[in-house]
Amino acid sequence: MTTTLTQTSTAQLPAFAQKFLKEPKKLFIDGKFVDAKSGKTFPVFNPATGETIAYVAEGDSADIDLAVAAARRAFERGSWRKMSPSQRSRLIYQLADKMEERLEDFALLESLDNGKPLSIARVADVPLAVDNLRYMAGWATKILGDTIPIPGDFHAYTRREPIGVAGQIIPWNFPLLMAAWKIGPALAAGCTIVLKPAEQTPLSAMLLAEIAAEVGFPEGVLNVVPGYGETAGAAIAAHPDVDKVAFTGSTDVGKLIVKAAAGNLKKVTLELGGKSPNIIFADANIEEAIAGAAFAIFFNMGECCSAGSRLFVERPVFDQVTQAIANAAKGMKVGSGLDQSTEIGPLVSDEQLDRVTGYIQSGIDEGARTLSGGGRVGDRGYFVAPTVIVDVKPNMKIMREEIFGPVVAATPFDDMNEVLEQANDTVFGLAAGVWTKDVSKAHNVAAGLRAGSVWVNCYNVFDAALPFGGYKQSGWGREMSHNALECYTETKSVVVKL
Ligand code: ADP
Repeated sequence: MTTTLTQTSTAQLPAFAQKFLKEPKKLFIDGKFVDAKSGKTFPVFNPATGETIAYVAEGDSADIDLAVAAARRAFERGSWRKMSPSQRSRLIYQLADKMEERLEDFALLESLDNGKPLSIARVADVPLAVDNLRYMAGWATKILGDTIPIPGDFHAYTRREPIGVAGQIIPWNFPLLMAAWKIGPALAAGCTIVLKPAEQTPLSAMLLAEIAAEVGFPEGVLNVVPGYGETAGAAIAAHPDVDKVAFTGSTDVGKLIVKAAAGNLKKVTLELGGKSPNIIFADANIEEAIAGAAFAIFFNMGECCSAGSRLFVERPVFDQVTQAIANAAKGMKVGSGLDQSTEIGPLVSDEQLDRVTGYIQSGIDEGARTLSGGGRVGDRGYFVAPTVIVDVKPNMKIMREEIFGPVVAATPFDDMNEVLEQANDTVFGLAAGVWTKDVSKAHNVAAGLRAGSVWVNCYNVFDAALPFGGYKQSGWGREMSHNALECYTETKSVVVKL
């Protein structure tokens, strides 16, 4: 493992970033940038150094009330839902175009704020967010009902109508992309929105609000209120005038959202944690499987809900595969996300650093062994070495709980049924990987896995047209694809006596 933990100081950043970080970062409510009612701000940290890089207005329940009221007025006024679908589509396309024009700015903010390599933000976060908006812009003109033959002299049909005010709470691992996954289908469906970015990573959502203001959505259609989860987030989940809440984050908070949403029985979609199995059979293309398994866990520092964090390798190739992944891990460049050659940036926060290193230690305490990594790198910033762990048992914490860091736990297996049982032995069901050249084995395992996405001979392949979401405690509903759109519409049956 090579490390360059030297940092770019704020003074060396491009002019855009220096200006952006210095300017007040306000809430975006009803088409205007405003201070929080309380007047409070909260600090944003650079995870590569731990230094404060900006202050952002801290929304709480009073600001959520204002944002929800603005979104409600916009919804009732009909300036968005009754706008012609092609015009709605055009505005979403314009938002995507502006995002693409500002790709470098968004990528830089994402890297500064989350810590991720700039190289990832440039080729993954921002382009995928743009693509998602474009995909959903296309749907705005294609939301159709059915005509339904029923007995008697009736003309019966369905209409798909927007649910109303959508509260959207997003996490810190792919801040802009998660915002796009949420606002895209809601806007296309004609909903109005109150979006709350994660307190760790509010910056790209602030730039999103700026470009949305330039595009000129009708006032109140998109409101962005940064703030803490327990205050602003909880206020969205419990708000009696929010019709739907969409949440991406931890399973524990997902359960709180469900409880809070019960007050007015708002519709709920959840994209939660994972402990995804990645299964390598001995007949796989081993070189590709090794590279794929490393990518499955180390991409975005393992801060991916779909991370392939439980690796199952058929016994004859277990040592070869795990050793090769450990060697790859040792060769990875750990450093500031802004350094062009960085492959592993810092984790997002000191809290996350403690959590991930705590899990590694718990594995070691329970008798597991590290083949690479094993803890923090350096004493500044929140860096953790990519870690491969073997000698694990199914009941260990590191095999059961989501770590959300660059840590993979590997287990040998002897046959297909055994590995399917082990792979499904989890409360989660978000994603899974299978590596084999045997076509029937690939399809049988894909069918047997209780997970919302299964990748065969590949991993972490996402597309706006592919549904994404979880079985079991990994979530409710699906994001992306037409499935996401359905989560933002109600179906109305209309029956006309002829
Ligand atoms: P993590 O533990 O990885 O930070 P969380 O699930 O806590 O992930 O956070 C995901 C999002 O949920 C963030 O925007 C956060 O502010 C928000 N959040 C946290 N707690 C609550 C809560 N009690 N109610 C609503 N939103 C919350």
